[in-house]
Amino acid sequence: MVELCSMDFHKRYGPHGEDFIEVHHLTPLSTLDPAALKRTAPKTDMVVVCLNCHRMIHRRLDKILTLEEVNTMIRNQAKSPGFEPPVGQR
Ligand SMILES: [Zn+2]
Ligand SMILES: [Zn+2]
Repeated sequence: MVELCSMDFHKRYGPHGEDFIEVHHLTPLSTLDPAALKRTAPKTDMVVVCLNCHRMIHRRLDKILTLEEVNTMIRNQAKSPGFEPPVGQR
């Protein structure tokens, strides 16, 4: 499980939030031909992210952000004055 933010839906919402995650394909599926699609290995081509981060990754229509970019974004933001970690997060 890739850690972007530390949002844990299970911790936040209890059993109701368990497994409330989304799968992000590192290689956009639309760029793959059917043969390549068959070869996609879940372990290397897919990551599990929370819904918020997933939306951020796809926010810009012209550019899908990498996990590193979102990670850097979160870290930089955490350093900015006035940042308060959301309740329940480190
Ligand atoms: Zn995605
Ligand atoms: Zn997240």
